[in-house]
Amino acid sequence: MARPLIAEIDLDALRHNYRLACECSPLSRSVAVIKADAYGHGAVACARALEDIAPAFAVACIEEAVTLREAGITAPIVLLEGIFSADEMSQVDALGLWIAVHSDWQIDALLGQRLSRPVPVWLKVDSGMHRLGFSPERAQAAWQRLAAAPEQAFDLHLMSHFATADRVDGSYFKRQLAQLESLSERLGAPLCLANSPATLAHPEAHGAWNRPGVMLYGSDPLEMPNALTSRLLPVMTLRSAIIAVRELPAGEPVGYGGRWVTPRPSRIGVVAAGYGDGYDRHAVDGTPVLVAGQRTVIAGKVSMDMLTVDITDIPEADIGSEVVLWGRSTNGEVLSVDEVAHHCDTISYTLLTGVLPRVPRRYH
Ligand code: PLP
Repeated sequence: MARPLIAEIDLDALRHNYRLACECSPLSRSVAVIKADAYGHGAVACARALEDIAPAFAVACIEEAVTLREAGITAPIVLLEGIFSADEMSQVDALGLWIAVHSDWQIDALLGQRLSRPVPVWLKVDSGMHRLGFSPERAQAAWQRLAAAPEQAFDLHLMSHFATADRVDGSYFKRQLAQLESLSERLGAPLCLANSPATLAHPEAHGAWNRPGVMLYGSDPLEMPNALTSRLLPVMTLRSAIIAVRELPAGEPVGYGGRWVTPRPSRIGVVAAGYGDGYDRHAVDGTPVLVAGQRTVIAGKVSMDMLTVDITDIPEADIGSEVVLWGRSTNGEVLSVDEVAHHCDTISYTLLTGVLPRVPRRYH
């Protein structure tokens, strides 16, 4: 029997979540963000599942776009960080990609390339994230350079990324949005702004295009969940099983460092998943798991290939019992990846993208 650990990917749930993104914003088009191998879910499989409903996909870099094209994905693909060297411009043209541009040298490369067709260009504005993009003052000149290109009619949009769209305190978000609205008005530019939190909570930021990512995979990105986020469905279930059971008296340490000590006579289930599979080693005691469809907790430190759970109160749990680390158990119980991330002092994005290649993906 194979080691019992699998990441099951529910492609119907993915489609449901994408449709929810569209429903949030009926006047916008939504590019499905499938960078980082679709947040660990498998970019090719996810693109195929969304191909007939998503008008475009977004990835971080040209290598990710090449993987999709080689798999036969023909829909538009946006490079969210643009090109990383001027040489890539000819590949952008050959692969029929759209690009975000955030630097003058990228505009030089774009204007210096004889293009076989007009390339849609999203001009990235730094409205407050302070990572990539032209400052609002410099964006106007960059826009005008592209708009005035003598031989090429670029389909131009203004793009920006929100730093705090997930927060209840909307003050910084509003400051970013105000800058973008005023720039868009001055340039007559269509906007592409909304990530998942803005798609779900800020209709005022919905533009010609939105860019939902993590919500497509069923994770709730909002600090304060709302009626829409309650409709998201988990896409990945990280499913394992108990491979051994220990019966221990009270006072016995379990796992590396012996930090967790049985508080009572305990049954400990050993589960075939560890940080060598991508399960976060920072999961503290008390991190929830589902064993045989019932909630219990991790007890002791996560090891490379296994972790230990307290099954004292689940007498029917035994070798072979199902363990869901996040996702949906066979009895329909759901453990959200957001809840697990909270216990690991991280975010769902790192857990989902962190599931390592040795964990087989199964699609249904
Ligand atoms: N747009 C850009 C530029 C991004 O970098 C990302 C993700 O990091 C997204 C959109 C999607 O964000 P989210 O996954 O929060 O929806």
